[in-house]
Amino acid sequence: MSSSLATVSYIGATILFILSLGGLANPETARRGNLFGIVGMAIAVLATVFGPRVTPAGIPWIVGALVIGGAIGLFAAKKVQMTQMPELVALMHSLVGLAACLVGFASYVDTSTVFPTEAEKAIHEVEIYLGILIGAVTFSGSLIAFGKLSGKIGGKPLLLPGRHLLNLAGLLVVIWFGREFLRVHDIQAGMTPLLVMTVISLLFGVHMVMAIGGADMPVVVSMLNSYSGWAAAATGFMLSNDLLIVVGALVGSSGAILSYIMCRAMNRNFISVIAGGFGGGAPAAKGAGGGAAEPQGEVTAVSAVETAELLREAKNVVIVPGYGMAVAQAQHTVYEITKHLREKGVNVRFGIHPVAGRMPGHMNVLLAEAKVPYDIVLEMDEINDDFPETDVSMVIGANDIVNPAAQDDPTSPIAGMPVLEVWKAKTSIVMKRSMASGYAGVDNPLFYKENNRMLFGDAKKMLDEVLAALRG
Ligand code: NDP
Repeated sequence: MSSSLATVSYIGATILFILSLGGLANPETARRGNLFGIVGMAIAVLATVFGPRVTPAGIPWIVGALVIGGAIGLFAAKKVQMTQMPELVALMHSLVGLAACLVGFASYVDTSTVFPTEAEKAIHEVEIYLGILIGAVTFSGSLIAFGKLSGKIGGKPLLLPGRHLLNLAGLLVVIWFGREFLRVHDIQAGMTPLLVMTVISLLFGVHMVMAIGGADMPVVVSMLNSYSGWAAAATGFMLSNDLLIVVGALVGSSGAILSYIMCRAMNRNFISVIAGGFGGGAPAAKGAGGGAAEPQGEVTAVSAVETAELLREAKNVVIVPGYGMAVAQAQHTVYEITKHLREKGVNVRFGIHPVAGRMPGHMNVLLAEAKVPYDIVLEMDEINDDFPETDVSMVIGANDIVNPAAQDDPTSPIAGMPVLEVWKAKTSIVMKRSMASGYAGVDNPLFYKENNRMLFGDAKKMLDEVLAALRG
């Protein structure tokens, strides 16, 4: 492929990636956005593999790697459950970081590139140093995030004494070794500062994510998403690949915007979350939800038939889905119930918390998959004022996002986080299997409120029974 055709392909792929991001901003256009992304990536890969910078001898290696990587990706995508998606995403981010590190070391030991001036060589070395730094933080941080999201590592933040000083000392050492790295002129001597910096960056990534409490994980997930973009951009600089730079910058900046949105949604200060320590004081949360909390009172249980009765008598119903709906895969039954109630003239709407589930937009994706109309799916801010006029608020497998302790208890690890005020409805019904806590590992006073009812059981099974009772 000629270099001009490769350039045109890169421009085409860039446009498709931008259109893809635009499409993903709205559930109605998300499918199209995905398609743009797939086509853009296919063009980008083809233009790179068959572009002017790859020699014919290199093609079998690249094709071999593509086949192996593609097979692993296909296997993982087929095997992974929808609820394991966030962990998979975290693992993917770690691979981007690892790739940036490996490319960094490879381009440092590669002596085939001749730099016309010392300044250009120094710029290339800065790219390598920063690329490996970002890559290493992304790699280790994402691995810890994977551990936390999959429940392999507890959700309680690890708060080392003097952790801010430790971080600062690490930063100063990295800067000092960066100066050393640029000062030396042979590869062997440069390897020591590069390796020291890599180890410090790996430790920083571990420390940064370990210090973050369960409730603040959404911010970390989106932040690591952003880091993976910057790691890809850094790889693009090291390889002088414009497309990788542009794509990395797109991912990096959209991830940064998402982190900011998440922080605002959770009423958190971005810098404080990164510095760690939020979410402290929580009982050790099991990653995928379910850490046991001490019961704080009496609850009133209801049956599926009684739930159907309450729904049948209601005029206004708000459904609040959470992580449990994803676990139970109950979205299709939720849709059937919604359809049935709407046909009977009940005003049914959905309230979506920005951090419901385990990844941004998790609930929107599930509801869209079940064909729930978009116009009745509302954001938290759009629906929170309507709860006092709501007859029944039905909480399906959600916990932290409907926890009144966020408003009432300043000592709670989730204090200050805006929540869906379901308890203000005439009756709230919480559907879950037990009294276990949610991801943040905090007890939920909602369960003990006088107007609250608990429908215990798997959400799918219970909703099937509710639907049968409604139809019967
Ligand atoms: P939670 O984790 O707070 O609660 C989910 C509840 O679902 C659990 O209490 C569990 O109770 C119940 N549940 C689990 N399986 C089932 C089932 N099969 N049937 C019925 N119920 C079930 O989820 P929320 O959505 O309320 O809140 C999200 C939490 O995740 C927040 O703390 C957020 O910070 C965090 N988080 C969010 C991310 C994001 O990007 N959205 C990323 C990382 C973390 P029981 O076991 O008793 O059934």
